[in-house]
Amino acid sequence: MTGDKRGAGRVALIGLPFDANSSHLRGPAEAPWAIRAALRSNSTNLWTESGVDLGAPGVITDAGDVAVSNQTGHADFAAMEAAVARCLERGLRPLVLGGDHSVTLPVVRAVAGKHGPLNILHFDAHPDLYDEFQGNRFSHACPFARISEEKLATRLVQVGIRTMNGQQLAQARLWGVELVEMRRLHNAPRLRFDGPVHISFDLDALDPAFAPGVSHHEPGGMSTREALALIQSLDAPVVSADIVEFNPSRDPLGITAMAAAKILKELAARMLR
Ligand code: MN
Ligand code: MN
Repeated sequence: MTGDKRGAGRVALIGLPFDANSSHLRGPAEAPWAIRAALRSNSTNLWTESGVDLGAPGVITDAGDVAVSNQTGHADFAAMEAAVARCLERGLRPLVLGGDHSVTLPVVRAVAGKHGPLNILHFDAHPDLYDEFQGNRFSHACPFARISEEKLATRLVQVGIRTMNGQQLAQARLWGVELVEMRRLHNAPRLRFDGPVHISFDLDALDPAFAPGVSHHEPGGMSTREALALIQSLDAPVVSADIVEFNPSRDPLGITAMAAAKILKELAARMLR
């Protein structure tokens, strides 16, 4: 077996220290290092709940942080897309640590460039479907409008939504977005997908009681356990994922960092299956 093949199928962490498309508070640019620190914390271990040791050699690799200017504009997006594409060319499965939610657009561009249009499973309090927000078409409130326009998704399933409004509902209907709103979560059927899936996990999908370290506190969200159960029960091949919107400046006790690391571990386990 060649070295390349031994590497194939591994999960690659990629940090995107970028929050220039935030609409309310900055902070998610500091998230990649904080999530890595929580993942390696001596307070826990690197085994997933299904019994995968993510600390074993050759299971996870860390591609480091992408060098960005953290300015709006296309240069940083191009750098992020290229970094994810390089990992995919090596046969690695990207697990991206944002960053504000705008980074999902360049990530999905790269993954769809390899796999074709994707199934996207999107955890969030917010649909992020605005055509533009505060004059910015690449705002963290807009990525799924751009992804839909660019036809990068065959299905977009949004879970945990609890801030829907008229403009975004019109967008959701226009593009056939499948909504599992938070108020109906307990009546939702099991999620099934045919073909490759990208999971985009905005930490504000979790209730602020479980993940206070986000810029937009939206009460009435899901528990960490409900999110883990959805990930663990997913019947689909997960080729890539992102974890976004963690704001360490709002997380003095490190609770959200540990929640992000827990989500990371269970996403990785699902991607390695
Ligand atoms: Mn979001
Ligand atoms: Mn959100």
